[in-house]
Amino acid sequence: MVGTIELNSRQQKILNIVKEYGPITGESIAEKLNLTRATLRPDLSILTMAGFLDARPRVGYFYTGKTGNQLLRENLRKLKVKDFQSIPVVVTSGVSAYDAIVTMFLEDVGTLFVVDEDGLLIGVISRKDLLRASIGKQELATLPVDIIMTRMPNITMCKKDDPLLDVAEKLIERQIDAIPVVKEKGAGFEVIGRITKTNVTEALVSIGREDG
Ligand code: ADP
Repeated sequence: MVGTIELNSRQQKILNIVKEYGPITGESIAEKLNLTRATLRPDLSILTMAGFLDARPRVGYFYTGKTGNQLLRENLRKLKVKDFQSIPVVVTSGVSAYDAIVTMFLEDVGTLFVVDEDGLLIGVISRKDLLRASIGKQELATLPVDIIMTRMPNITMCKKDDPLLDVAEKLIERQIDAIPVVKEKGAGFEVIGRITKTNVTEALVSIGREDG
């Protein structure tokens, strides 16, 4: 489970009881609330899963002392690149700036990754790179993207198991829109996905929309 949860009034009451009397058994909490243990079971498991309470066998429930924000932060760190990445759009070294523009429109992306004949990452080409080339005097149909792209080793990359939060930070720090998700292949990197500002926005929405 990811995100903060809104506690209902019974869950809030349970939390207060555990704060005051914990460690306390489920049975004793139920008694204080004049409810059965079975009625409380779903609330106790929600509070435990969300990280507000911890349960120890033969001891009972105790309050973890974590605030909603702390729990949100912990849960945010659990979001991984692989759960939000999109399919990468790649072009091969030597393709023209003109074809790169066409590819961006057809594939509906703002960033292309340039790979060599072995499929290894050698460059990144963004909308602005292509706009900059378009205001020059060059003939776009004969201008290879290699001349205008950002090249290795200056490419910001990430791995599929990286925390999404770290990648989001890099997008902001480096003022870029997309980061290739790569895996090592021989002496280089193969592109297996991409993370864009849109993916980070999707992650935010998925947290906000999640029930409980
Ligand atoms: P836009 O051109 O639409 O503003 P970006 O902000 O992503 O898009 O690109 C800004 C510059 O950063 C471009 O020159 C681009 O080549 C470069 N760039 C984009 N993504 C990366 C990346 N992952 N690593 C290194 N440089 C990048």
